[in-house]
Amino acid sequence: MPKIKRILVTGGAGFLGSHLCERLVERGHDVICLDNFFTSQKSNVVHLLDYPNFELIRHDVTLPIYLEVDEIYNLACPAAPGHYQYNPIKTLKTSMAGAINVLGMAKRCRARVFQASTSEIYGDPEVHPQPESYRGSVNPIGPRACYDEGKRAAESLFMDYHRMNRVDIRIVRIFNTYGPRMHPFDGRVISNFIRQALQREDITLFGDGSQTRSFCYRDDMVDGFIRMMENEEGFIGPVNLGNQGEYTIRQLAETVLELTCSKSKIVYRDLPADDPKRRRPDISLAREKLGWQPTVSLADGLAKTIQWFQSIDIGDYRPPTPSY
Ligand code: NAD
Ligand code: UDP
Repeated sequence: MPKIKRILVTGGAGFLGSHLCERLVERGHDVICLDNFFTSQKSNVVHLLDYPNFELIRHDVTLPIYLEVDEIYNLACPAAPGHYQYNPIKTLKTSMAGAINVLGMAKRCRARVFQASTSEIYGDPEVHPQPESYRGSVNPIGPRACYDEGKRAAESLFMDYHRMNRVDIRIVRIFNTYGPRMHPFDGRVISNFIRQALQREDITLFGDGSQTRSFCYRDDMVDGFIRMMENEEGFIGPVNLGNQGEYTIRQLAETVLELTCSKSKIVYRDLPADDPKRRRPDISLAREKLGWQPTVSLADGLAKTIQWFQSIDIGDYRPPTPSY
């Protein structure tokens, strides 16, 4: 029988956080989900509210909070470019003050603490595929900087709390991940293309669509999170988690059109500033240290995601709150 732990998940009502909470509740842990619902809504976790080992707190991670826990997964941060650029100062505060608050809690409680970092810390990479040793090429003053630099600063804070205060940390660099419960209006490429295809809207291809991404299905990703957190070999990361299949965004648009049998047209829009041209993880370290690699193909993952988008009422979702 695994030991039952008290686990805090910040950003626990979001796309990845809600799946993680589900998995931890299933394993019998005492789960506290903390979220300010900036980019999510209660419906993502409402099915967990009846469980005695699940608790939901509306709270902003930039503000201190005192809880007694054994583990913390820190996922609170807007993740889609449209969401994180909506209020860039708040995005930086969320990454930095949020990291300080969870690290302070981990230090006080002697808890293990996990940071959801990102492939964006590599910026628009000159090295391909990206290994963890690559230090990245980030524009520190561009529109993506609030997210990229915030996550880089959070990694620094995690390492410094580890070196100075021996806090037991785990850092994971997440590459593009998708699946059911993505916010239909988050503007991320998979949610956008599926929503557009299902609603017979034009498919908006930014630039000429030759830029690439590697897409990981959410179940594989959450499995990687848990393996990393449960690793007892002293492996703290950073470690890349992502799928190695690399696709152009044009290929993705064509695949979504095919899988949805949609008659939507592809239209071209300007490429956003600093949009990375190529991205694919080198996952040798995750394979070696965690015995982890993705198992879900893009076609299978997309089919499940499309099915979920067909099952929801898109009218129930709203863009991020303007009062944020
Ligand atoms: P998401 O937007 O669905 O989830 C983020 C959650 O954090 C939301 O529920 C949001 O309301 C909450 N949040 C935001 N600011 C907050 C604050 N100040 N206080 C409390 N809660 C706050 O996005 P996601 O895709 O589930 O991302 C989860 C984490 O994984 C994020 O930290 C993100 O940066 C990281 N990540 C995700 C991806 C991906 O492709 N999905 C890639 C790289 C990194
Ligand atoms: N993209 C696109 N059309 C859209 C949304 C995104 O062509 O409607 C492109 C975007 O320019 C980028 C890629 O898809 O090159 C992935 O974008 P996303 O916002 O999902 O994530 P990120 O750029 O952070 O990887």
